[in-house]
Amino acid sequence: VVLGKTSITAAIACALKEMGINLMAADCDVDAPNLEILFKAKDTIINSFTVQTTMKARFVESKCIHHRKCIDENYCNFGALSWDEEKNIPIIDSIACEGCNACQWLCSYNAFVVEPVDSGKISNLKSEYGFDVISGETVLGAQTSGKLVSELKQYANDIAEEKNIPFIIIDGPPGIGCPVIATVTDLNYVIVVIEPTSASLHDAKRVISLINNFKIPFGIIINKADIWKDGYDLVVNYIKNNGIDYLGEIKFDPQWPISIANGLPIIKFEPDGPASTELKKIAIKIKEIYEKTISE
Ligand code: SF4
Ligand code: SF4
Repeated sequence: VVLGKTSITAAIACALKEMGINLMAADCDVDAPNLEILFKAKDTIINSFTVQTTMKARFVESKCIHHRKCIDENYCNFGALSWDEEKNIPIIDSIACEGCNACQWLCSYNAFVVEPVDSGKISNLKSEYGFDVISGETVLGAQTSGKLVSELKQYANDIAEEKNIPFIIIDGPPGIGCPVIATVTDLNYVIVVIEPTSASLHDAKRVISLINNFKIPFGIIINKADIWKDGYDLVVNYIKNNGIDYLGEIKFDPQWPISIANGLPIIKFEPDGPASTELKKIAIKIKEIYEKTISE
């Protein structure tokens, strides 16, 4: 999994594919998926299905006797119930609803039903660069992106097994919450992308502490390595002092944002440019790590 930058995941995936690795990609950033855009895979659906990992309350008007008890006695601790004075019925705010079941239990007239609802979509797409991409997207208000990530990874593993694909590269979500935990669980290797700033190093340390809890090997890439010398020294010292795998660095390349604006991985946009050259060196290291892992 690459934690830190979608465009780096996309470039490394393309470089590894060019080196002959039989791979597929998965986008676990289900709250803001965009790997499929860089892979030009958005409209190439092989399979797509909805998943129901969220519970929400539904109001059944025919059962309600309109005595306001659910409001007056504040059945809902999540502020998801209010009263429609005009229609004389409760209103459920489905985004605030946590599916806790309280209203279902407390209404003696069975006017609330708590049931699974669509919480996300998982798709198997085909990249223009010759490999499958598994992508997921949460439904607004579903609040269960961790569970969706777990479903997405399981589906990606099933497809990989079915198609005999030994390598899955994953674009990870930001932060250290449930989606990241669900993403890094059971992985062989994690790549953390750091920029040479104190804020980026601070975020990376939190992610690394999480990865260490799972005892997963990891390495670091420094992105935009030349934007701040002091920050660069800070990150390099951290890597050295902690004996962390250093996978390489990419200097700021003005062609990079242009490649993103054109919807292309930098490796495809400017194959012999400075960023692509560094990324190819990094991909060689990742290939070595992969070959070592499968030989163990
Ligand atoms: S939903 Fe239940 S508790 Fe609320 S007004 Fe209707 S019957 Fe009463
Ligand atoms: S299921 Fe729980 S959170 Fe949702 S409306 Fe009922 S009481 Fe509120």
